Amino acid sequence: MSKKFLGILLATAMVATTLVGCGAKTEEAAAPAATEEAAEEEAAPAAEEEAAAPVEANGTKVGVSMPTKDLQRWNQDGSNMESELKAAGYEVDLQFASNDVQTQVSQIENMIASGANVLVIAAIEGSSLGEALDMAKEAGIPVIAYDRLLMNSDAVSYYATFDNYMVGTKQGEYVVKALDLDNAEGPFNIEFTAGDPGDNNAGYFFNGAFDVLKPYIESGKLNVVSGQKTFDEAATPTWATETAQSRAENILSSYYADGTNVDVWLCSNDSTALGVENALAANYNGTYPIITGQDCDIENVKNMIAGKQSMSIFKDTRTLASQVVKMVGQILSGSEVDVNDTTTYDNGTGVIPSYLCEPVFADVNNYKELLIDSGYYTEDQLQ
Ligand code: BGC
Repeated sequence: MSKKFLGILLATAMVATTLVGCGAKTEEAAAPAATEEAAEEEAAPAAEEEAAAPVEANGTKVGVSMPTKDLQRWNQDGSNMESELKAAGYEVDLQFASNDVQTQVSQIENMIASGANVLVIAAIEGSSLGEALDMAKEAGIPVIAYDRLLMNSDAVSYYATFDNYMVGTKQGEYVVKALDLDNAEGPFNIEFTAGDPGDNNAGYFFNGAFDVLKPYIESGKLNVVSGQKTFDEAATPTWATETAQSRAENILSSYYADGTNVDVWLCSNDSTALGVENALAANYNGTYPIITGQDCDIENVKNMIAGKQSMSIFKDTRTLASQVVKMVGQILSGSEVDVNDTTTYDNGTGVIPSYLCEPVFADVNNYKELLIDSGYYTEDQLQ
């Protein structure tokens, strides 16, 4: 494949992405123009995969560092990244760090020592990878922060994620609509369960939801019965289901044991929602609350179908993986890297140019279309 063809492919892909956003397959949008131009230059490559593989991919190694295998989403993110990168012709070193920061540091150091040309990192704790990131910088290896921003390091070249604040606003808006807060008399009781303070995303999720619900809390239409309405009070270290569950059990026994109903439990993601759902099952007999989540994990979608969770946010990990693979190709070929946000994500050393994909909400009415028709899950997986 010639350099010119590569340039055309990348340029067309960039234009197409600007037009269609992160939600659509760029390759499809880019195909006609690229093929037409390429036909003049050389015979069209036989396989679709070959066509997508940048020349720079040959012998190029990408280190992909994921936080843990414990949560479903990171397994999916890891395997999507691996297969997309391999399809594009890269060698891949994919590691999961068992939610242990030191393990993640060593894994990244090994990737650097074994010749990674680009690093893609979803941090366990955004601020704890300093040493490893310094090493990457010294070795001239570009770093893409994947999903979670890497904090306080000037070694970070780009950030690719879903719009984290929008995840929260969509959860909040779902609650406003479900309770018809603008018209209903209320008051309604609400509790919050937020994410991991070590994860920069968690504050965005919480603030996005809280900002939507705040006017109703201030007017008294929503009542936080436990009084725990700050991020710090509602946080769940490492996003652990068990931690969310025991906090919810405490809240239920302290504030709801007298028969008070909880109408909404705003959970930032699915692993914490699961904890709250477990706590409710064992410790609560009132009217079942609206419960939010994020990720569309299989257990949670099953709960959604069974009426134990109202909604989740669908972040199609295939979309994020494709975007990151594209950014890797652009970085390596020295082309302009596709970003759509250059103001929001300051990691303490300056704003990191970012690509934000758009999250969507899923509930029992649209999950089939979003999750099954799109091939994300099979029907069997949700039985
Ligand atoms: C991700 C969420 C996920 C959470 C726990 C966050 O950084 O953006 O999708 O639910 O981590 O793994």
